[in-house]
Amino acid sequence: MDRNEFTNKLKGLVTDGKTTVELYNEISAYAMSYGLAKATKPAERNAYYLSMEFLIGRSFYNNLMELGLLEETREVLAQKGIDINIFEEIEDAALGNGGLGRLAACFLDSAAGLGLPLQGYGVRYKYGLFKQAIRNGFQVELPDDWQRFGDPWSIRKDNEKRIIKFADMLVTAVPYDVPVFGKRVNNLRLWQAEGSAAAEKISEYLYPADDTEEGKLLRLRQEYFFSAAAVGELIEKHVKKYGKRFDNFADFNVIQLNDTHPVLAIAELIRILTADYKIPFPDALEVAKKTFAYTNHTVLPEALECWGADLVKKILPDIYALLIKIHLRQKEVFERIKCTKEEALDMSIYSNEKFSMANLALAVGKSVNGVAKLHSEILKNSLFKTAYKYYPDKFQNKTNGITQRRWLMLCNRELSSLIDGAIGDGWRNDMSLLNDLNGRVEDIADDFIRVKAEKKRQLFEHLRINEGVDIPEDFIVFSQVKRLHEYKRQLMTAFAILEIYKGLKDGKIKDFQPSVFVFGAKSAPSYNRAKAIIKFINEIAAKVNADKDTNGLLRVVFVQNYNVSYAEKIVAGTDVSLQVSTAGLEASGTGNMKFMMNGAVTCGTMDGANIEIVELAGRENNYIFGAEVDEIERLKKDGYDPCKLLKSNALHNYAVSSLIDGTFSDGGKGCFKELYDALTVGASWHKPDNYFVLHDLESLVNALLKINSDYKDGKAFAVKQLKNTANSAHFSSDRTIKEYAEDIWEI
Ligand SMILES: *Cc1c(COP(=O)(O)O)cnc(C)c1O
Repeated sequence: MDRNEFTNKLKGLVTDGKTTVELYNEISAYAMSYGLAKATKPAERNAYYLSMEFLIGRSFYNNLMELGLLEETREVLAQKGIDINIFEEIEDAALGNGGLGRLAACFLDSAAGLGLPLQGYGVRYKYGLFKQAIRNGFQVELPDDWQRFGDPWSIRKDNEKRIIKFADMLVTAVPYDVPVFGKRVNNLRLWQAEGSAAAEKISEYLYPADDTEEGKLLRLRQEYFFSAAAVGELIEKHVKKYGKRFDNFADFNVIQLNDTHPVLAIAELIRILTADYKIPFPDALEVAKKTFAYTNHTVLPEALECWGADLVKKILPDIYALLIKIHLRQKEVFERIKCTKEEALDMSIYSNEKFSMANLALAVGKSVNGVAKLHSEILKNSLFKTAYKYYPDKFQNKTNGITQRRWLMLCNRELSSLIDGAIGDGWRNDMSLLNDLNGRVEDIADDFIRVKAEKKRQLFEHLRINEGVDIPEDFIVFSQVKRLHEYKRQLMTAFAILEIYKGLKDGKIKDFQPSVFVFGAKSAPSYNRAKAIIKFINEIAAKVNADKDTNGLLRVVFVQNYNVSYAEKIVAGTDVSLQVSTAGLEASGTGNMKFMMNGAVTCGTMDGANIEIVELAGRENNYIFGAEVDEIERLKKDGYDPCKLLKSNALHNYAVSSLIDGTFSDGGKGCFKELYDALTVGASWHKPDNYFVLHDLESLVNALLKINSDYKDGKAFAVKQLKNTANSAHFSSDRTIKEYAEDIWEI
């Protein structure tokens, strides 16, 4: 279909009597055939991005924009009396949890936009991450049946099915191709498991609970399932093209492993080469060494996957045998490089009857990268210290990024036009030009204030409809939206709000600008403390919002079902981005970048990419507080006593005691007491307050009050916000992808 045909189809579209879902499917189908007609010739050498998650969000508006069809579609529909926003009723494809999955989606977008051949491989979950409702303040998990709207953006390829073998069953992997439009059309291939009821379970849910043996088994099956399908296909294609030789395999294929989830792909490649093509083990290992690269996303030990040897042996005996073989090989290497016993244990892919996926990726992969400067340093100096000592050349940094197409051009057309007016529209294709905005911030500050007010109005409207809360127009918007985790410290923000609330009530805080705190977060279904924090924030919201003494000044909203589409609205309508993780624990963050690009100042710790954000936008244009990494290290070493802080600080005591003194109710569950104990006495697996919430609380409150006071000078504050936008080019995933393409993929 060419452009004219698309226009004619659209103009001829009969809309009367059709549902939104029908119209959505019809228009999407036109756009798909238009987009696919422009499909590019496959490249010789490709990079492949293997990821358990692709958090794509809504495809409709984004794809129309990428294809240059969005404005025309908007106009033609308007002529038919239809507002294009009605398609917001179509819910997101939430095939991901959070940052890691969204990063994968941003990377595909950027590679296509830059014309680089990067193809994705993942899982087509029947249900994405659960849909979250908040009932009585608690998180409730509902199935996310995203396919009920149809799936016009993918194509099932029945003739490219593969069989994946487990010891106890055969599973058919059926590919669904999701084209990624840009300067070239790349492909995201999502595998769906079929063949039997047991097989279908493999691609039923994203991250089935793995706190049970059965959950672990299913998770292992999922990871092997999609990795094996991808690798098997790549080898088969290679053989078709070049015959049964593999010395040149890595000339045409490079595979990026997004965290440890797809790391079994390494073993699978070696298995296929040795078993099916009779390549000697050392040669097969060499091929793997040139093909794979690994990205680490977290330093939290519980997230570095290890698989029990019996589990692997039970369902993947050939993979088990191979892993042992790689392990024995590794032992020979350890002898050769003369490392100590401890060092060997530290790097071993097999110890305590477990296989370490990170160590496998480190041992075989040609590179390992962290996702922000600080994180990459931490990998070298602590988490992977030993591997760094012996293989320093493997270590790299690739600071994350976000696609400005979705996260600025699509979600903030108003700010985008303002930028066009100030510096021309060249930045849309070359983000480095955005730096020119630095020279214009003073001139356009007043216009920016108007744009921000409009985006806030839109956000508040959305909050009114979806959450049933009314926020008055002039409120400053503080947002903390991200997965719920103790290290991200939503609990610390909650305490800070309570302290401010008390200060307002007592009349100790004066001259306060009205402020609203917006939270959005899903908790893993089995993570009880995180769920308790959600309930706690909702309890605070109920109390604060109902208090007539203060609710003209302070409000709290916890949005339901935070996802990509919600994020698009929140990042555009926010003044202050809360990025308050314990220093050293947030590998990068990408939410922080979305806010920065949309002109929010960061109130954050020196952690992850926050450090690079303030380096570029200026510390004076952001609000940095709290302990830095070396102080946290020192506290861990010298001892840290949160109870002492509680005793000496009445406000802290007020906030923290509210968990147990009857101020708030957890419905008799005892989960607030559990939070209180975690802060004050600890648990068998951690010391009291091991994320240093109480340590950083006072400086957070001070930072929030300073922001509140600075906001009074509206123009000066707008200049700070604009400085953030003007210096955000570095956080475009176009920059990140260029770095991967040059330094790792050589595409
Ligand atoms: C960007 C994004 C994230 C990541 O947020 P962080 O603050 O970096 O943890 C999580 N979820 C959604 C829906 C996102 O769009």
